[in-house]
Amino acid sequence: MTQLTTSSFVTFKRLLEYVRDKKLGIIGGVIGMLGYAAVDATFLYSLKPLLDEGLTGKNPDVLTYMPIFVLVIITARGLAAFMSSYCMAWVGNHVVMKLQRAVFNHLMQMPVAFFDKNSTGDLLSKITYDCNQVANAASNSLVSIFREGAMVVALLAMMFYQSWQLSLIFFVVGPVVGFVINKVSKRFRGLGHQIQAAMGSVTTSSEQMLKGHKEVLMFGGQSLEQDKFADVSNKVRRQNMKMISAQAISVPVIQFLASIALAFVLYLATFPQVMDTLTPGTFTLIISSMFALMKPIKSITQVNNEIQKGLAACDSLFAILDSDLEKDSGNKPIARVKGQIAFNQVTFHYQGKEKPALDNISFSVEAGKSIALVGRSGSGKSTIASIITRFYDGIEGDVSIDGQSIYDFPLDNLRSQMAYVSQKVHLFDDTIANNIAYATGDNYSREQIIAAATTAHAMEFIEQFPDGLDTLVGEDGVMLSGGQRQRIAIARALLRDAPILILDEATSALDTESERHIQAALEALQKDRTSIVIAHRLSTIENADQILVVDQGRIIEQGTHQFLSQHDGVYASLVKMQTAAS
Ligand code: ATP
Ligand code: MG
Repeated sequence: MTQLTTSSFVTFKRLLEYVRDKKLGIIGGVIGMLGYAAVDATFLYSLKPLLDEGLTGKNPDVLTYMPIFVLVIITARGLAAFMSSYCMAWVGNHVVMKLQRAVFNHLMQMPVAFFDKNSTGDLLSKITYDCNQVANAASNSLVSIFREGAMVVALLAMMFYQSWQLSLIFFVVGPVVGFVINKVSKRFRGLGHQIQAAMGSVTTSSEQMLKGHKEVLMFGGQSLEQDKFADVSNKVRRQNMKMISAQAISVPVIQFLASIALAFVLYLATFPQVMDTLTPGTFTLIISSMFALMKPIKSITQVNNEIQKGLAACDSLFAILDSDLEKDSGNKPIARVKGQIAFNQVTFHYQGKEKPALDNISFSVEAGKSIALVGRSGSGKSTIASIITRFYDGIEGDVSIDGQSIYDFPLDNLRSQMAYVSQKVHLFDDTIANNIAYATGDNYSREQIIAAATTAHAMEFIEQFPDGLDTLVGEDGVMLSGGQRQRIAIARALLRDAPILILDEATSALDTESERHIQAALEALQKDRTSIVIAHRLSTIENADQILVVDQGRIIEQGTHQFLSQHDGVYASLVKMQTAAS
């Protein structure tokens, strides 16, 4: 067995696990398919009595019943066809739904580093296009292959029963046809993988254009994007054409092989020894069976390509399902931490980067105190936040909260201790209230949401919307200004009342006055929680208990505002620059 057929078998077997609890549908589908094949075979078989008895006048009843027989048999055929299509589609769609859900849920638990490497477009195309390919293979194609397969078996059985000598020829042709089908399958499978990759780049490049359309307009990127898209769409077209030509060649080749068998049978029939053993009915039956075999053989070859595409899609989906989730092996949850945080000689490299983003960082914050991180852009401030929230694993050294390594916490427990406002605020396409109370169920009352929004100085603008808190913010909050989005994100963090608050440039988009107001409110809140504040505007962090100046992944200065501004260093010069500018 070649490697590819082994792997298709493995893939197929794994896919079968998804239909395990859908046995009833499969049984219904199989009954329908067998019924369909049986009806067709019976119909053909009826040629024999029609010719040998009916038309020769031996038994006139045959002619009388024939019209009724035709109606009954066509009705039965229709019912069987409906039953097999419906049942298999039911099974197929369940499989796809399960697979789609599994991939979606798995993706949600993937580490952040995975999303750094894979483009959103590629992943979207997997959930949509690849899953659809599986749906096609699982329902339409399986129906055809089983139904036509049963038909082939039924016809062959009938032929053998009538004249095994003539039918033997199929044993010679059969393996050759099988060989050709196997060869083409591999080609289809490979092309299927290529088409998927090409579809991924179509989604990616569309997504880039749609998300960045303002930049495209302003910087005149239309022709660039147009060319890029022309390229990827042409790639998809070329792969599809390859697929179609492989299919268009394989069908006639296989039919040609089958016709050799037919020609041979016709030739044999001219021998008197053979002729004498056959009635006209038997002979007609065999010849029509052979002709009837052409159609199922053709559709099996054709459908094979759908199945190979489906299996290729399964491969790529299973690869996602097999990739490692976020490491979550901690088993020492703490209901509510006090909030003492310590970095102990932490060094961290982003994947594929030689230069460390954090280089031997050590510091600690007492519970309930505040710490501010300042430093040049790209110095590693956000990375420190990402390490505490465990967005990235694989550090040297250790980070602990209340003296317990953060890797000993279950992930959800660890993250529930923190309220985090990221540098890139994301809002969901929902109402303001639902964004503030995102994923908290009914844990918070409307009053609590309003209180959080008020503290974050968000109520001021929310009240001006006709729908207030129930205003829809649009995809990623497009209906709001940058500062408004930040205030909603702050309200979202405040509502959670977590012992640790992490604010990464949380007020950078606000005017100085709003920032002061929020600052005052935050300071009140910070009293009984540990906070880590990252800021460029130094005026906002003057009151922090401790200030760390980060540069190139290292802490180069450390102390209070008062201490640092009196010592001639980086911080003092930053303060000078900022006061001179304002
Ligand atoms: P800013 O003030 O501009 O937000 P920062 O101090 O927060 O800067 P970080 O985001 O921590 O800087 O980045 C530190 C370094 O790590 C930078 O050199 C950056 O290029 C790199 N870096 C950040 N995120 C990633 C990532 N996902 N993959 C690889 N490298 C990254
Ligand atoms: Mg940052």
